Amino acid sequence: MKIAQVYIEHPIPELDHTFSYSCDSFSVQRGVRVRVPFGAQSLIGFVDHVEEWDEEYLQQQPFAVKPIREVIDQEPLINEELFHLAKWMSQAYIAPVISCFQVMLPAKLKPRSSKETIKLEAYICFQKEIEKLTEKQREALRQLQKNDMMLRSEFYKKFKSVGKKLIELGCVRVVMKEAQASRFSCAPAPFLSLTPDQDNALQQIVSADSKEVILLHGATGSGKTEVFLQLAKRALEENKQVLLLVPEISLTPQMVKRVRERFGTQVAIYHSALNNQEKYEQYQLVKRHQVSIVVGTRSAIFMPFDHLGYIILDEEHDTSYKQDSTPRYHCRDIAIERGKFHHAKVILASATPSLESYARAHKHIYRLINMPHRIRQQLPKVHLVEMGKAIRHRENYLLSDVMLEKMQERLERREQIILLLNRRGYTPILRCMECGYVQMCPHCDIAMAYHKDEHKLKCHTCGYQMPLPSLCPSCNADSWRYLGSGTQRLEELVKEKFPGAGVLRMDADTTMRKNAHEKILAAFQRHEADILLGTQMIAKGLDVEKVTLVGILNGDALLNRSDYRCAEITYDLLEQACGRSGRGQYAGEVVIQTYDTSHYAITCAAAHDYVSFFKQEMRYRHLAGYPPYTYLVSIVFANKHEDQAKRDAAFARSLLTDDIRILGPVSLTKIHDEYRMRMILKGKDQLRLNQAASHLYRKYQQAKCSSRMEIDLHPIYLD
Ligand code: ADP
Ligand code: ZN
Repeated sequence: MKIAQVYIEHPIPELDHTFSYSCDSFSVQRGVRVRVPFGAQSLIGFVDHVEEWDEEYLQQQPFAVKPIREVIDQEPLINEELFHLAKWMSQAYIAPVISCFQVMLPAKLKPRSSKETIKLEAYICFQKEIEKLTEKQREALRQLQKNDMMLRSEFYKKFKSVGKKLIELGCVRVVMKEAQASRFSCAPAPFLSLTPDQDNALQQIVSADSKEVILLHGATGSGKTEVFLQLAKRALEENKQVLLLVPEISLTPQMVKRVRERFGTQVAIYHSALNNQEKYEQYQLVKRHQVSIVVGTRSAIFMPFDHLGYIILDEEHDTSYKQDSTPRYHCRDIAIERGKFHHAKVILASATPSLESYARAHKHIYRLINMPHRIRQQLPKVHLVEMGKAIRHRENYLLSDVMLEKMQERLERREQIILLLNRRGYTPILRCMECGYVQMCPHCDIAMAYHKDEHKLKCHTCGYQMPLPSLCPSCNADSWRYLGSGTQRLEELVKEKFPGAGVLRMDADTTMRKNAHEKILAAFQRHEADILLGTQMIAKGLDVEKVTLVGILNGDALLNRSDYRCAEITYDLLEQACGRSGRGQYAGEVVIQTYDTSHYAITCAAAHDYVSFFKQEMRYRHLAGYPPYTYLVSIVFANKHEDQAKRDAAFARSLLTDDIRILGPVSLTKIHDEYRMRMILKGKDQLRLNQAASHLYRKYQQAKCSSRMEIDLHPIYLD
């Protein structure tokens, strides 16, 4: 008897093994979805493999083997490479196998009982020609034969009068086909002739062994993108595919534009702002070999390539490459894994590489290629303003005199300005001046932010909102005071100081609608505003010629976090923000306002000296025993009941042997009504650490504790 071994759709540890179903009357292959009975339910499963059982073996089973109800796919959804990749992920990230298959596929193909249907469109195709036809009818048939098939709507538009008649006569017929992405083309742009730096990088990459991972450390504006484009051109000439990963498409519309200008209809774009149908269509473009280049965000790493030449991770340090739900993978790892399979070259590129990657390059595990010079201008000159002093001199606490003066200069010269407000530490909070009360989110234990234009309080973690109570709920006083200030407050101040200037604001509030980022950035690009102000998101990727001043309002806000990576995050943000200034024909400047002017993250960023930063930060990591000198595993226990979360965490700790360093458990802030306890495992041997975590995972499941356990093998944030 033919038996299909099937993973069930629910990604929970208890069901993380295959279930057996008979499938004699079906044609079933590995990698197709099936509908199967499961208890009283009917669920979607994913076939791992099919095996042959004899009658005797069947009788020995302690359970009755039920038949499959339906086979959903004619062909496997993923190829053997991706199949093995999913199995590898399941082990490497300690995640249920089914969750790895689910994360790889677009929503419309996920093995999951959702109501996703694939959009169909009506086409007209040629059937036969008959004797008695008018000239117009014949013309329509000729056109059809030439085009193979036409969309029904187009056919009717062209041959309005004869279309329906031809169907009646049986000369043509209607077929329903899956809707296809319309392929985008735009005015082509030429390839640029490379500078010596770029040419050197290109030659090194081309001549590198495909087993080498390349770290391209190029200053902001050094022309990395042009190198990528020319690599892609070579790949196409060799009939290979290219994957170009970017952190956030809506923030890098220029990148998409540049790739399309060179490669036109060869390009698919894949990112989280597409709806499910759009994602499905882009996915199919790759699967059907209709395109060879994909520009995409994190999940594009799983596109169904079968002959990859290059995988490029632009801004490889960006934390959006890390998935923060199960399976908690990092794109860099997956890129390297897929690269091995395809003998494709993996290129990690950044002006501010992650410490892990640079350390590997330092040890010659990766090949380091440098592009230290900007194409046009020098890197911008940076001025540090000590805010403590400025405030003592009674300057404005948001915009110092130096900042105001330089802004004034730019406005007079008709140049543009970017103002970056570090969000942390500037959440606009209301406090009662009588008793000190701050309204906390009832679900998350985090102070709620005040949104002035809507007169509401909002939780930035879970989205819960409430109207502002007119009196303090704790002491009934009427004395709310607005503390700290967000981008709204900054916008007000800028408008007050420079009444003639055009101001655009980009933050979580102004970018809620689809395509809002692009619109704001495009307007700024067209110089419809002089000043763009916003949060972290404006520090990334922007290439606007006329920006000659970048102001960073609280350069050290991120340094005060309780996270071991806070210096690295600070350096990245400052250097990336500096990278937006002076990219065109005019030299740029940067003003960083900060309370701490001596920390190496600040001074190194001001000098654009990544290597010094790297050395000092590595010293700290070494002393404190943090990555890249050690590996970490974070294990969180979440429960609606605080006591239970504590008990389960303590129990889990008792399951670990003492050759592993364990920190905690400690309690974290409550989120979404759940209390969370976290334990960190730390060690120098990655394999040993992974084994300990897997062991814990299995034992913990067997004990049937009620707290949900979340394992993160290389956590990026610890606060
Ligand atoms: P990066 O990706 O390293 O930040 P970009 O690729 O955006 O840098 O390049 C910065 C600017 O220099 C862009 O405006 C780009 O068009 C221009 N540029 C890049 N390479 C060349 C070249 N070889 N010749 C002329 N201009 C170039
Ligand atoms: Zn909340």
